[in-house]
Amino acid sequence: MTSSKAVYILDDDLQYASLLQKVVEKSCTNVVSETSASIFLGMDVPGEYILILDLMMPEMDGIEVIRSLSKKPEDVSLILISGFDERVLHSAQLLAEAHGIEVLASFTKPIDIAEFAKLLPALVQQQSKPKYVASNAELSVQELQDAISNDRLCLHYQPQMALSENRIIGFEVLVRLKQDDGQLLYPDRFIAVAEANGLMGLLTEQVLLIVCRDVSLNASFFSGKHVSVNISAQNIEDLAFPELLETLTSKYGVEPSKLCLELTETEVMKELTSSLDVLNRLRMKGFSLSIDDFGTGFSSLSQLYRAPFSELKIDQHFVMRMQDDNEARVIVEICIMLGKMLGMSVIAEGVENQELIEALRELGCDNIQGYGLSRPQELANIQAWHQDLIRHK
Ligand code: C2E
Ligand code: MG
Ligand code: MG
Repeated sequence: MTSSKAVYILDDDLQYASLLQKVVEKSCTNVVSETSASIFLGMDVPGEYILILDLMMPEMDGIEVIRSLSKKPEDVSLILISGFDERVLHSAQLLAEAHGIEVLASFTKPIDIAEFAKLLPALVQQQSKPKYVASNAELSVQELQDAISNDRLCLHYQPQMALSENRIIGFEVLVRLKQDDGQLLYPDRFIAVAEANGLMGLLTEQVLLIVCRDVSLNASFFSGKHVSVNISAQNIEDLAFPELLETLTSKYGVEPSKLCLELTETEVMKELTSSLDVLNRLRMKGFSLSIDDFGTGFSSLSQLYRAPFSELKIDQHFVMRMQDDNEARVIVEICIMLGKMLGMSVIAEGVENQELIEALRELGCDNIQGYGLSRPQELANIQAWHQDLIRHK
């Protein structure tokens, strides 16, 4: 089946560009190849297209092209190719993703043409992931504010398991927003709206309130299990946040040690000095702290040492790839070692299958979370799932 999606090829090597064009034309009707980056960037392109991009070009390299593309309005998905080692491809991929550009695949030169031709049809058919940009979000600030105030937040719980005991030790809470038609809206559609409009305080407070209510109403289910809640940089900029949390937990009779607050590595490092004040006071009040998506930011070891985290959560990007990608595996191993040496417990997220569970167990990872165990679900469903798990043990 041929696709009508527009595919552009940008490679300074004319022979390579023509070879790729011939291959791509077998799966796509609308293919254009170009050897000059500046000519390509000046072309009229459709609103949505795929670009097969060579990273190594003398006139303007692929990284500069990615930067220019991120400023353009069109929706581009990339297939990256490079004669450099895989590390360059990886960091280019991370860079593109940081700019909100989807990377469908990456290949090292010389490309195995047979394999490329085999993979291409699936790549071009792939629906591009819905992208989220704060400015063109469908949810308005007013709608979000109303949803938070009118109790339309819905919490899903995703279990976490200790590998040494095969026991569920806690849950991460992931927020969703119930729309009028009953459909759920996922966080990539509203967290950034909340961040950009100063609504994170209100949102986090509401999430924490529902969590405290759930825990106090289901005390025996939550006995011996913690709940992890995601918080944002805006929360730790609020110097009164530790006291607010203390008041809330004591009102519902929830022990602070039951709550773990997850903060992403990038968020913490934004304002480390001022966040250290709040983070330290949270720890002193008995709350646990987890550094989320670890490995994607650029924290230095000394910064990590200064921040009082009790848990290190390895980013799912590395965990998911560690079976086929040696570099991802090395990063996972280093994160496990680092967390342990700094006295933190280490959890891997994005664990999607049993082999990964076993691989992480072998590497000495403490805890896991992911679809391989369970997807995030409403509390009642998670309770039923847990019952079932215990029954079949
Ligand atoms: P996160 O905290 O890193 O959460 C993990 C995300 O990965 C969740 O997506 C979860 O559903 C998904 N996930 C878990 N296991 C797997 C797996 O095995 N495979 C795959 N492919 N995905 C898995 P979700 O629920 O869409 O949340 C996305 C992000 O939104 C979260 O990333 C977190 O940063 C943010 N978020 C969610 N709830 C809240 C909240 O209450 N407050 C704040 N501030 N942020 C939140
Ligand atoms: Mg999290
Ligand atoms: Mg994460």
